[in-house]
Amino acid sequence: MSEDAAKIRLIMELRQSGIKDTRVLSAVERVPREEFVLGTFVDQAYENTALPIQQGQTISQPYVVAFMTEVLEVGERMKVLEIGTGSGYQAAVLSRLCRRVYTVERYRSLLQQAERRFQRLGYHNITTRYGDGGLGWPEQAPFERIMVTAAADQLPQALTDQLAVGGILIIPLGRGIMGQSVVRIRRTEEGFEQDDLLPVRFVPLVAGTAEAENR
Ligand code: SAH
Repeated sequence: MSEDAAKIRLIMELRQSGIKDTRVLSAVERVPREEFVLGTFVDQAYENTALPIQQGQTISQPYVVAFMTEVLEVGERMKVLEIGTGSGYQAAVLSRLCRRVYTVERYRSLLQQAERRFQRLGYHNITTRYGDGGLGWPEQAPFERIMVTAAADQLPQALTDQLAVGGILIIPLGRGIMGQSVVRIRRTEEGFEQDDLLPVRFVPLVAGTAEAENR
């Protein structure tokens, strides 16, 4: 099957799975996923599956990317924080829908590769940072939208602190036999509302930077 045909089939599959937001579907259609996967998996770039990337991490399943992007309700004037840059694919999808994406990764090598992709593909509204995303990005806070793409045991307080009033935070929560689910946190004037949205399996959110661990 040609890449275009595979891409069209994927978009149809996302629609059939319940993704309705046409802006999200067209962002997924426009971002070349083959540029974000390992060379050995290029022929599977438009299959609806998660794929391994370097450092034992994964690029999420396209359905999960589309779902989390849809429920984030991103507006084109918004500033979005993403934790867990990984390949950079989710950041690239978000960058098509908002004013600026701030993305944090704890592996320097992954971040550098993602930065090169953003350069090459012309995604100039993505700002990157090497560090522990559990701490957020205090200098740029508050954020109207925050997406975490690694699973946490508990809601990182730094992230809820950095969420604007009226803002939405999407995060996979939970570990172990109970599994994880994508949770939506809305910050209101009164406090925080939490909804469980979708069972998922993400790699864990790990405190500290990877390179600091190996010292
Ligand atoms: N959004 C990515 C998915 C990457 S998988 C993509 O589209 O490809 C999750 C990523 O989160 C991994 O790269 C992992 O290294 C990173 N991560 C885990 N804990 C982190 C932390 N505390 N701070 C920043 N990044 C973290």
